[in-house]
Amino acid sequence: MSQGVTIVGGGLAGCEAAWQLARRGIEVDLFEMRPVRGTEAHTTDRLAELVCSNSFRSAELTTAIGLLKEEMRRLGSLVLEIADRHRLPAGGSLAVDREGFARDMSAAIESEPGIRIRREEVAELPDGLTIVASGPLTSSALAERLRAFFGQEYLYFYDAIAPIVAAESIDMTKAFRASRYGKGSDDYINCPLDREQYEALVADVLAAEKVPTREFERCVHFEGCLPIEEMARRGRDTLAFGPLKPVGLVDPETGRRPYAVVQLRQDDHRASLFNMVGFQTKMTYPEQRRVFRRIPGLENAEFVRLGSLHRNTFLDSPRLLRPTLQTHARRDLLLAGQLIGVEGYIESASAGYLAGLNAARLALGGTPLVPPGTTSLGSLVRYVTEGTRREFQPINANYGLFPPLATGARLRGREKRLALASRALADLDAFQREADADVRRAA
Ligand SMILES: Cc1cc2nc3c(=O)[nH]c(=O)nc-3n(C[C@H](O)[C@H](O)[C@H](O)COP(=O)(O)OP(=O)(O)OC[C@H]3O[C@@H](n4cnc5c(N)ncnc54)[C@H](O)[C@@H]3O)c2cc1C
Repeated sequence: MSQGVTIVGGGLAGCEAAWQLARRGIEVDLFEMRPVRGTEAHTTDRLAELVCSNSFRSAELTTAIGLLKEEMRRLGSLVLEIADRHRLPAGGSLAVDREGFARDMSAAIESEPGIRIRREEVAELPDGLTIVASGPLTSSALAERLRAFFGQEYLYFYDAIAPIVAAESIDMTKAFRASRYGKGSDDYINCPLDREQYEALVADVLAAEKVPTREFERCVHFEGCLPIEEMARRGRDTLAFGPLKPVGLVDPETGRRPYAVVQLRQDDHRASLFNMVGFQTKMTYPEQRRVFRRIPGLENAEFVRLGSLHRNTFLDSPRLLRPTLQTHARRDLLLAGQLIGVEGYIESASAGYLAGLNAARLALGGTPLVPPGTTSLGSLVRYVTEGTRREFQPINANYGLFPPLATGARLRGREKRLALASRALADLDAFQREADADVRRAA
């Protein structure tokens, strides 16, 4: 007889995981603390409540999030099935009727005989096969427990996210590679600014529209991680003496030290992504694109992630997790959802899918699976579990995370993205066959 699985958190990830386990005949105890204990953002006692936007973002294969949806559909995702049922007109995006979505998610999970829902807060890590999917607003008792189990330095309570730029979109006739004082190799890409360009950037940052701060997010401004606009507000030259300081750098074009330098640090081992050092911000996404594209070298920058700052409990997954979503510390403990540093409803649900699938395989005495790195799911999982990553920050699905197409394919833009999507869906086939081997009945 197979052992049962405990899931902590009845959000997008926890529900998807529970469903995948039930489809494979595994008994589940699903713990959800609402309504006994609430969070700062949820307003109902429904499972899989959408706390903010009712949009699951693009549904087009030209985006990695659109591809992730298609992969999830093919893999038998409950979240996608119910989202498609409650789809609202929203152009190329998948937006849903949030009431209907959460109602049907709750009904599907509640009517599943293999899932027992327990409305309790979990404050200890359960023994036996367990998936923790308690989300960005994990209760403080459980967060404390996670901190004690994994170590103080591996649990974060907020995001201070700097934008990430696709390396191929940086104009290297203006930017140059170098490290300050030539220390180390040429790890950084540097965008040099003269005084006029620097002052224009500061003025733009100050004037740009910002996302309002919610009451419960007011605690997030730590001195070590101030938003760029807050630094700019403190004085005209604060940035030039801070993250944009030019010391130790000479622009090969002029042979002189620039007035200020925007530095971009390598973010993946293929050197295809670079993050803008110190550019965590609450500027709105359109304003970030407008303002940052005025920086010399970034005029055509393709942003694979934009900056933000908000309350978010997440773990340093590259150091704690295997690509199967099992923890290194305990093979029978899996993590899923936004807690592992994926960001967004569908990304969280997809991590729930993988944790549910692998917990089922472990319960049945099988081997956990790793999705192909060429898929949207696989690229996301690889990003958050790659042990070499430094200074981990949460990420959305995006094509910047994908391995390059075979040499010879010199495609760009839409054509390239569609080629990545068709490679992903072809590679998903074999994974899907293996993943579905234990499915006992149609979802
Ligand atoms: C304020 C805010 C706004 C957001 N807006 C968006 C948005 O517009 N679009 C988007 O894509 N993403 C948004 N997100 C991110 C969004 O929360 C995630 O994408 C998604 O909900 C994460 O899914 P999850 O299953 O990991 O967590 P959740 O959906 O939050 O589910 C976790 C569940 O665990 C429960 N729980 C927590 N601690 C315990 C415990 N100790 N015991 C038992 N149960 C517990 C919670 O009550 C919750 O139901 C937002 C997040 C926040 C905080």
